[in-house]
Amino acid sequence: MITVKSTRELDIMRQAGRIVMLAHNRIRELIAPGVTTKELDRAAEEVIRKAGGIPSFKGVPCPYGGFDFPASICASVNQEVIHGIPNDKPLKEGDIISVDIGAIFEGFHGDAARTFEVGQVSAEAHRLVTVTRDSFYKGLEMVREGMRIQDISRAIQQYVEQNGFSIVRDFVGHGIGTEMHEPPQIPNYVSRERGPRLRRGMTLAIEPMVNQGDWQVKLLKDKWTVVTKDGKLSAHYENTVAVTGNDPEILTKL
Ligand code: MG
Repeated sequence: MITVKSTRELDIMRQAGRIVMLAHNRIRELIAPGVTTKELDRAAEEVIRKAGGIPSFKGVPCPYGGFDFPASICASVNQEVIHGIPNDKPLKEGDIISVDIGAIFEGFHGDAARTFEVGQVSAEAHRLVTVTRDSFYKGLEMVREGMRIQDISRAIQQYVEQNGFSIVRDFVGHGIGTEMHEPPQIPNYVSRERGPRLRRGMTLAIEPMVNQGDWQVKLLKDKWTVVTKDGKLSAHYENTVAVTGNDPEILTKL
């Protein structure tokens, strides 16, 4: 069932979203060649807990039968698409790194992802990061009462493909609230399902995952890290948003 949030619940979700973005801001400050993703993870967890939140990714059971997720952020470098596990490998000049952060505040979730550039990156990597971010905003334009989930999917897919990149199919956006993943699913491509109509008070995590080459992905042996099959780059951009009676509201903001 798709939940519709009350004014009070939306206010709590705004606070959860703010905590997520405080952690993202800290990570943006720290990103540089030589920093490890474990250091980023530690910093993000500290920010979340100081603000009164709980990191929501830590301890999530693996959907593929592996170990529980061990960290507060997902850190996915270059060809890694999502669910990368923070480690001790230093970032290098020219890398791109997708960081996904979730936090719970008073029982409600916030969820947002950004792809950061480490030092100077190639023009093509920069274009991938920019197109991925902008595709989220193309989708956001469709977040209006009476529109359908598929309108969001179509806007994102068209923009990404017009720019010569591809959309990951195996993972999709989602409703969000007291659970991190609630219905409906929000594909970033046009599937057979038109999806439900949007109603005021629905809260959605819209999250295009965009590949430089082919859309196909594979799972690494750690049963978490998803990488591009062709080894080319991937980028991710996500916000938690609310459907209102008017313009959509981004809840993951400061
Ligand atoms: Mg998400």
